[in-house]
Amino acid sequence: MSVFTIAIHGGAGTILKKDMSAEREQEYLESMGDALDAGYAVLEKGGTATNAVKAACIVLEDNILFNAGRGSVFSKSGEHEMDAAIMDGGLMNAGSVAGVRNVRNPIALATEVMLNSNHVFLSGKGATDFALMQGIKLEPDEYFFSQFRYDQWKEIRDSDIYALEQTDPHMENLIKDKKFGTVGAVACDENGNVAAATSTGGMTNKKYGRIGDSPIIGAGNYANNKTCAVSCTGHGELFMLAVAAYDVSCLMEYKGYSIQQAIDHVVNEKLVQMKGQGGMIGVDAMGNPAMVFNTPGMYRGYKTSEGRNEISIYQ
Ligand code: ASP
Repeated sequence: MSVFTIAIHGGAGTILKKDMSAEREQEYLESMGDALDAGYAVLEKGGTATNAVKAACIVLEDNILFNAGRGSVFSKSGEHEMDAAIMDGGLMNAGSVAGVRNVRNPIALATEVMLNSNHVFLSGKGATDFALMQGIKLEPDEYFFSQFRYDQWKEIRDSDIYALEQTDPHMENLIKDKKFGTVGAVACDENGNVAAATSTGGMTNKKYGRIGDSPIIGAGNYANNKTCAVSCTGHGELFMLAVAAYDVSCLMEYKGYSIQQAIDHVVNEKLVQMKGQGGMIGVDAMGNPAMVFNTPGMYRGYKTSEGRNEISIYQ
């Protein structure tokens, strides 16, 4: 029986203490605590890493503070198009969905894709048809409405600007956003199985059916019992080009890096050189967590069966 661990993130970006009210900060800390508790409860009962990351992600998707599920941002056409992925590092199986609408918990749908379709990646209307077949809960558009994200979108909807959940001074067509992020979870269960889950509404004012790194296996999400589980958040285009999550696993497998060294390298060297802003959480198959970001803040936390835990926001 090995150490079991759950870690979560709620997005990385220009998250500064000076911009945050004490009340809002408390809401974030409590919300992250709830997600960690949900994942940890699964692991404590001897549940699998996959069920733990799914449970933690659902808590974050149901929380309007985060840009996933209920709190998803508005696209150019004023809709909510969500992406999600889950990967089981023991089964070496994964499920992803992209551009889905009205699905209450895209991570639950991604899990169905992994377990009950003969495919890995479903998109758009076909993914919704599959959701209906599998009895996945749908919600009307109003469920996904939040005033502050609507206001963000209104500011830029008539322009070509799209907004990430973080600032990127190197990209002219990105604006400073209010950084409410993508969510993710990684876990290692008592049997040394690892899993990763990531879910997002993507970027405000995105168009042309833009899909980010989150649902792409190896880019925004990856798990392999031989190495680790990783969930990313940040400027998706750069994370895709860096094949970021898989690169962490490769550094461990081929170069013998620890989870901390591997994530540090990808986030603080490779991505920085590419001007890719964001962060990652990871856990290795011995239950060691790592949380690294190259932005001013990242909503993040972890909890291990050895009694180690942390919930934090800023650098
Ligand atoms: N990586 C996500 C995307 O590009 C955004 C985020 O992490 O906030 O869609």
